[in-house]
Amino acid sequence: MIFRRISYWLAAQFTVFVFALLLVTGSVYFAGDLLQRHGETRARLERQMMQILERPSGSRAVFLLPPFQRERIRVTDALGQPVHSGTLYDDIPFSPRRGITTVERGNESYDILTSPLFQDGQIVGYLQVADRSPPNVLSTRALMFILVSVLISGFTFIVGLLFARRSLKPAEQMMQRLEQFTQDASHELRTPLTAVSTSLDLALADPGDITHITEAKKGLKDVTTLVERLLDLARLDAFALTKESVDISALTNAVLDVHEAHAQRMNVHIDRRIAEAVHVSADPALLRQLVANLLSNAIKFNRKGGTVTVTLTKNSLTVSDTGSGIAAAALSHIFDRFYREDTARSNAADGLGLGLALTKRIVDLHNWSITVESTQGSGSTFTVTF
Ligand code: ADP
Repeated sequence: MIFRRISYWLAAQFTVFVFALLLVTGSVYFAGDLLQRHGETRARLERQMMQILERPSGSRAVFLLPPFQRERIRVTDALGQPVHSGTLYDDIPFSPRRGITTVERGNESYDILTSPLFQDGQIVGYLQVADRSPPNVLSTRALMFILVSVLISGFTFIVGLLFARRSLKPAEQMMQRLEQFTQDASHELRTPLTAVSTSLDLALADPGDITHITEAKKGLKDVTTLVERLLDLARLDAFALTKESVDISALTNAVLDVHEAHAQRMNVHIDRRIAEAVHVSADPALLRQLVANLLSNAIKFNRKGGTVTVTLTKNSLTVSDTGSGIAAAALSHIFDRFYREDTARSNAADGLGLGLALTKRIVDLHNWSITVESTQGSGSTFTVTF
């Protein structure tokens, strides 16, 4: 829930940022456009004004201009009284303010440039020249721009949300695992800690007998193992993987060497069918743990005089045993945390039911798959496909 809210918040912030950026870019563009248009209008009107003034008869030359041009010109004396006033100026009061003003005439818009006329350094009158304003597409363009910006922002929000969700996913999963750890730890620690407490009570009641102290110590060791295993499970994270090319043939042989003595003690024979120099991209420490987990289960759940066959090919690792097998109903649960078929076993040395959960997690982190086949009474086969 919190991650969902963070995603929305991040996407919204990102969208506001992009929208602001678009608005700034748009404003700069439109301001530039406006200035350019203004400059062009002024240059055009000034050119027309110069054409009139450069005529030999000066401002009076307006009378020599063709009628349509005359309509757009006004000449006044120094006090602003019209000397010549085109019909365009009919109800426009004269103002000696220099520069460009814009007036509306019906559906048309006109730009008027006003400039004083000088003689011997004195203002002797004013000349106004008008021309039709270029069509004003700026407001339509601005509207379009805002519309497109809103659309882009909407798109940004959706993409931002997707990215935020994807980026936060590992953190969310990590948090879920830690939550799971807290729940599992508080649930699973209660029984062994109660046992430790009972043993210590008994030890206190009978200080001469150290067997209860030994029991309490063993109980605490179990608790430590449980916490360590749970932490292993919680910490396993795709980002923490240090993948490299691992010679899994050598690694499997090394793990088998370590377990050989234990297998002999259990009177279990190990049959190695390991292809040479098989390499996989994996985290070596986790891969070692995976092989060790499958192997120790195959030895632990075997019968006396049984065999564990470890087969490594280019694509898979198979560990099969000749033990008691797994009941069909239990097959779908053996990868669950704390699942043990034989619940009578109650201490860490017998198993916590976390080994296969850890194995499955390692397999998932490497994007591999693990399958199990088992017939009760004749053994089980675990296959990891790379
Ligand atoms: P444990 O610590 O109990 O070994 P695991 O997660 O490794 O926990 O295994 C879960 C359960 O799956 C075991 O308790 C056992 O019932 C069953 N199991 C796992 N491997 C085998 C196997 N090779 N043969 C029979 N049963 C197995």
